[in-house]
Amino acid sequence: MLHVIDGVEKPDPINQEAVKKFHEQRKKILKADHYIKGILDHDRTILSQAITLVESSLPAHQKVASTIIEGCIPFSTRSLRLGITGVPGVGKSTFIEALGKKVTGWGKKLAVLAIDPSSERSGGSIMGDKTRMENLSQDPDAFIRPSPSGGTLGGVARKTRETIILCEAAGFDTIFVETVGVGQSETAVHSMVDFFLLLMLAGAGDELQGIKRGIMEMADAIIITKADGTNVQRAEAARTEFTNALHLFPPAESGWIPEALTCSAKQGTGLEIIWQTILSYTDLTKRNGYFQLNRDRQAMYRMYDFIEETLKSDFYNHPDIRRKLRKYEKKVLKRELSSYQAAQKILSGYRKS
Ligand code: GDP
Repeated sequence: MLHVIDGVEKPDPINQEAVKKFHEQRKKILKADHYIKGILDHDRTILSQAITLVESSLPAHQKVASTIIEGCIPFSTRSLRLGITGVPGVGKSTFIEALGKKVTGWGKKLAVLAIDPSSERSGGSIMGDKTRMENLSQDPDAFIRPSPSGGTLGGVARKTRETIILCEAAGFDTIFVETVGVGQSETAVHSMVDFFLLLMLAGAGDELQGIKRGIMEMADAIIITKADGTNVQRAEAARTEFTNALHLFPPAESGWIPEALTCSAKQGTGLEIIWQTILSYTDLTKRNGYFQLNRDRQAMYRMYDFIEETLKSDFYNHPDIRRKLRKYEKKVLKRELSSYQAAQKILSGYRKS
């Protein structure tokens, strides 16, 4: 009698997991290629979609986003990046709109970005409001993107830095980055621009304007806004005062002496001189090498910043660490351990893992 012996189940010669991974990888690259191509073709819709991926916190989006950024970096050159800061009400959006219109009128392509870590809480204090920069937003040569919302200042700043790269690859040769002059976001903006403008009101002491000395020291130019009507004389007096104050600072490494200027964004006066000043700065610093040196330093800063952000999030998202944090928090609160001892214990476990 014949017996049929059950055979041993043969393993599938194809590793299905690997096939799935391959297809996922392919899809990701195809997807990234689609965005990169669209950006290089100067397609604004695709640029906006790619920025949304950069801003997303979903790991799948972040993976595609980083491939897009890598693909855009070689095309992100020869731009002028301008930082603009000042307290709310100083006239930033009016100024950006007026200068922006001039700049596009001179044949430039302008992207206006913002850094505002508070935008989630306040529902978008910078450029969230559609009525801001109404003219500029209808200009075909301008692209306005509000601040990424949510997250730490470091996270928001990183997203803006990456957005700059995408915009430049999409053909925008002039980038304005706006921030509210009340906290630390100025330092973040300063670390990603070539020229930093500080907007000030005449007649309000600097304490009143919430501007710290450190921020004044970062400025390459101070603009006294609203120099029109009955305010002209006060603006002129403030200009003299700020010019004197700027001369008291130690000479900058760039070789540039910061200037104080007045302007009325409403009347459109003073804007050409401001632009000329910015061009004089880039002329000087391109000749003496500082322009490139500053960008190289910013690249280094980005590298360390990225490492720090990644280490931090890896650490705090590690399941063991989360458990230990909860446990040691209690011990510190009950005074069973000092904060220092608790931190040591948590860290030593992490270093061994
Ligand atoms: P932001 O909060 O810094 O963006 O300031 P805005 O641009 O929104 O301006 C705040 C207020 O100042 C608004 O009421 C503007 O109309 C007014 N403003 C802005 N620029 C000028 C200017 O050049 N002259 C005058 N007189 N008012 C201005």
